[in-house]
Amino acid sequence: MARYTGPACKLCRRENTKLFLKGERCLSGKCSFERRSFAPGQHGTARKKVEEYGLQLREKQKAKRYYGVLENQFHNYFLKADRMEGMTGENLLVLLERRLDNVIYRMGMAESRNDARQLVLHGHFTLNGKKVTIPSLLIKAGDVITVREASRSSSKIKGLIEDLDSRIFPKWLDVDKNTATAKVTALPTREDIEFPFEEHLIVELYSK
Ligand code: SF4
Repeated sequence: MARYTGPACKLCRRENTKLFLKGERCLSGKCSFERRSFAPGQHGTARKKVEEYGLQLREKQKAKRYYGVLENQFHNYFLKADRMEGMTGENLLVLLERRLDNVIYRMGMAESRNDARQLVLHGHFTLNGKKVTIPSLLIKAGDVITVREASRSSSKIKGLIEDLDSRIFPKWLDVDKNTATAKVTALPTREDIEFPFEEHLIVELYSK
């Protein structure tokens, strides 16, 4: 399964915002964006006039990179969002938020979305009692996600469970910290997504 494997911090500098791609490091003084908040490359500090297309493109790239999906997959989410009732841009963000890897991250069982993706691929979780290995799976209201019994002895998983006490969870997830189990009480809405996306720019880009 394809994924971006280049330097994560460069993506934040390119998008001129923190995308929180590296877990604890993002909250520490080691964050590259905090130290060098200009675009990477030889002309990174040059002032550029950004045209309308550039703004739209950057917003799309930002959302793709924040959720860790590649171009084709992102475009498919857009097409699906466009077929749904309601606002296409909001639908798009909600679809991305419903990805299993994002939900694992939101429930505190991964340090980043990329980490969540790896943990799912390695079969550390169950969804409604069945082992699951597809990070892009879309969760539904009522779904229950938990750590597999066989995975609970791994030092990484143990550490993540211990850290659940210090985590803050979105209101659409009911997380039992003792069992590392999350129940999806409702589907997330646009208001639940705190990152300041301007999704109308993505819709404009794809509507050209
Ligand atoms: Fe982005 Fe995190 Fe790297 Fe900071 S540490 S630049 S937030 S990925």
